[in-house]
Amino acid sequence: MTAAVSNTGLALRYTALTDVGLRRSNNQDSGYASSHLLLLADGMGGAAAGDLASSEAVTIIRAVDDDRGGDALTHLNDAVDAANRRLGDLIQADPAVEGMGTTIEAMLWDGEKFAVGHVGDSRAYRLREGRLTQLSADHTFVQSLVDEGRITREEARHHPHRSLLLRAMLGRDDFEADYSWLQPQLGDRYLLCSDGLSDMVEDEAITRALASASIDVAATELVRLALEGGGADNVTVVIGEMVAADTLDEESELACADGVPQLVGAAAESPQPRRGATVDVHDSTASFSADPEELRYAPLAPSRWRFARWGAALVVLLVAVGAAGWYAYQWTQDQYFVSESDGSVAIYRGVDADLPFITLRHLESTSDVEVDSLPSFQQGQIRDGIEATDLADAEQIVRDLREDVVPDPTTTPTPTPAVPTETPLAPGTTVAP
Ligand code: CA
Repeated sequence: MTAAVSNTGLALRYTALTDVGLRRSNNQDSGYASSHLLLLADGMGGAAAGDLASSEAVTIIRAVDDDRGGDALTHLNDAVDAANRRLGDLIQADPAVEGMGTTIEAMLWDGEKFAVGHVGDSRAYRLREGRLTQLSADHTFVQSLVDEGRITREEARHHPHRSLLLRAMLGRDDFEADYSWLQPQLGDRYLLCSDGLSDMVEDEAITRALASASIDVAATELVRLALEGGGADNVTVVIGEMVAADTLDEESELACADGVPQLVGAAAESPQPRRGATVDVHDSTASFSADPEELRYAPLAPSRWRFARWGAALVVLLVAVGAAGWYAYQWTQDQYFVSESDGSVAIYRGVDADLPFITLRHLESTSDVEVDSLPSFQQGQIRDGIEATDLADAEQIVRDLREDVVPDPTTTPTPTPAVPTETPLAPGTTVAP
């Protein structure tokens, strides 16, 4: 049991729990919980280095737990930056681990409020008066689609690219995390979790589990639900609860922590850098390449130069697609067909089909042959479009059609007056030549 008394009369009770899940062979998540710090890291980069990344990050960031006083947000920011530099150093020292990285979810309690740090798609939730609120915004591709109103939150849950990260701690100079302050209340419960929970368990079930009699029961229940939901990934939960400092002794039996900080997952196993490893993380035939975690993070460039190369490749691809499209369009504009325009037989240049935003046909000329004056079979052909090999062929088709015109019984024979009578034209009327 543990907690820290503060000038608000609140104390933080904590617990942390992790499980490797049902499909993975090792745990790449790391979690840490103490009376001042809740911390979670979900490592990436495949089995080669995901555990190393999350372990190193947690080991460095948890040092803020011993470094109190001053501004908690500055302390946390400095610690997170130090962890990022550490990953950069490891990658520089051993190219075999290039591409490793981790998400970070951290809440540092300064006795009054929390300094919160976040990067990636691990989540922070708050349960207050029975209502669950997600505090962190996923740094994912699907979340950007949700923000733009292109898909709903529910659609994002089932999107094939839902795990694609846009930001993470990768040891790069352009690293950037989100920071904020959070004001807790008595009774609040805070949950940090890896996507092994949030992907497997719906919000309603998380709400019910987090509201369990104690946070230790809640942690067990949440992990159980993730495994029941498929256990496709490592699952880690770090939970904190705001309790009244003076009730701690009576409720101490509700907490599993015995006053010492809890460290779980990869960080508890201290994975070592794989110096001289023979595994190439970019070798698609490497043994771990079937790990879906590899696909998840593949679009994240491990270095700026690789990003530049991908950018150049994308430009080349777009130019090639653009050029192919231009030649295809030019080909369509050498084609002709006969169809209808305003009730008359007409010749069109192009093809009798349109693409979104692109018109592939243009009216070449209109004849004096009315479609309705033709036999119904020809009418159907015209409305479907009659292909021509070239403009001369199209003109020949029109001449052939003129031969097929059925005389109109109501106008034939037309009595023609011997002497035409001049009829005054209405103003604005012109006579066709
Ligand atoms: Ca994960």
